[in-house]
Formats: sequence, C-alpha cells, structure tokens
Amino acid sequence: MPPEVFFSGPGLDRADVLRSQPDRIAELAARPDARELQWAEGLPLLDSAGRLAWTQISSPQLFLGLDGESPRFSALPLVDAGRLAFGLLADLDDRDAPLFACALSLANWHARHGHCSVCGQASDIVRGGWSRRCPGCGAEHFPRADPVVIMLAEHDGRLLLGRQPHYPPDRYSALAGFVEPGETIEAAVAREIREEAGIAVAHVRYVASQPWPFPSSLMIGCHARALSEALTVDYTELEDARWFTRDQVAAALAGDENAAFLPPPRHAIARTLLEEWLAA
Ligand SMILES: [Zn+2]
Repeated sequence: MPPEVFFSGPGLDRADVLRSQPDRIAELAARPDARELQWAEGLPLLDSAGRLAWTQISSPQLFLGLDGESPRFSALPLVDAGRLAFGLLADLDDRDAPLFACALSLANWHARHGHCSVCGQASDIVRGGWSRRCPGCGAEHFPRADPVVIMLAEHDGRLLLGRQPHYPPDRYSALAGFVEPGETIEAAVAREIREEAGIAVAHVRYVASQPWPFPSSLMIGCHARALSEALTVDYTELEDARWFTRDQVAAALAGDENAAFLPPPRHAIARTLLEEWLAA
C-alpha cells in the first residue's frame, strides 16, 4: 500500500473534456444544483466541521469539476493569500483536502499570471479557468506546478533530517529544494543533499508525491542512500542537520514527550516519508 499523503485522494471528477466546451460549462453553471466555492481572505472557506463551504453561483470563473452530478465552480478570490496556512490545514477535512489544494493552487496561478509572459498584454481566462489566452499574440498559458524534491537520506540505519530557522522549537524535517531546469528528480535530490549537508547519495527512490498549494508546488518525496555520514551543513540554508536513529524517529512520531525531536505535522509529506520508512 502506498502511504497516505495529505492533499491526496480522489477529489472531484475534473471532467476536463468539458473545458473546451464553453456552452456546456455555461449550461452546468445555470443548473440548480451547481455550487460555487466560498473564499475568505484569499483561502477556501471552511465550515465548523472542516469541510469546504459552498454557495449559490454568482461568478463561475473556474470550473472545478463534478461532485457526482453536481457542478462545482469557483470565483477568483480578490485577495491573493498564497501563504502557509498551517492553522487552517489542521482543521481541514481529509476528503476535501485535494479540492482545497486544487482550487487554491489554480486561484494562486491566476492571481500571479494575469498578463501574457510573451508580450505583456492582459490575458483572458479560457477553458473553464484551466488556461489563459493572450488577445494580443495568441499565446496560451497553462497553470503551472513547480516540482520540489523532498527527501530522506539514510546511512547505517539512521536518517538525515534538518531544521530551518523558522521552524517551531525542536522540529526537524526532511531536506527539500526546487528541481531546476535540465535536472532529473534523482539529480535534484543528490544536489540538494550535497549542497545542504555536504554528503553524496545514491539509489534515489521515489516514494510519494503531494500537491502543495502555497503557491503551487508539487512535492516529490524520495528516499536516498547516503554514501558517508560526516556532515558539512550549509548554515545559510539550515539552522542544523543531524542523523536520527530508528528508535528516535519512532518516539517522535509516537508523540513521546522525551523524543529527540518534534516531527513534521500530519499534513506535511515529510511526515509521510518518516512513517513509510518506519513501516518498511
Ligand atoms: Zn501575448
């Protein structure tokens, strides 16, 4: 069984064949069972049960898909939040998490890409919100997801974890970084670990992925074998990095108050990677 990752799951039927049929999308928006996502301060609004809040259609700019037969739309939020919302995520229902990620990431993209990157003209929303077309040069632009590798390096039964200065006290997590143009996932994993911890790795293995809508990343979770253990930490990137034993990781995930570190929260794929490693 692949590990369960927050923001993963079936979500809506995206019904993407309908995106190229504006008449059909307009018909769907006019149906009595059509609903529109509610927003608050640039983030999808949650009700008291942590479910996404829906209302009657007023500005169906983005066609999110079908919930059973019910068409689901969203307006573009007026405020671009795009910031980490860990407090909100703690309340978010698992079943709605994939749709939360989809809607927020798409809205973030529109908020930041209102002009054509070829000629600079203001572009128009087309394909039910899944693309923008420039009326000046005709270029079509599609929503992007930026690939980020996030990885555990293992050596002699211990795992390498690091902490960034903005983490809560005692938290350690997986190292991570953006995949650069011209790079494979494997090369990005090796480069990030070499840059941040000063060690070489081999046998990079894909574990799981996670959409991360702050603003629009795709986290690619990997495991790697470290070829040595003496670390040279890049203190411009990290506050610390160190090795943790299996027992230390188990105690941290179990919430032991005497654990050697505070693990990443449940909605972070870094936690899933730790759980997968312990279970293996
Ligand atoms: Zn253009």
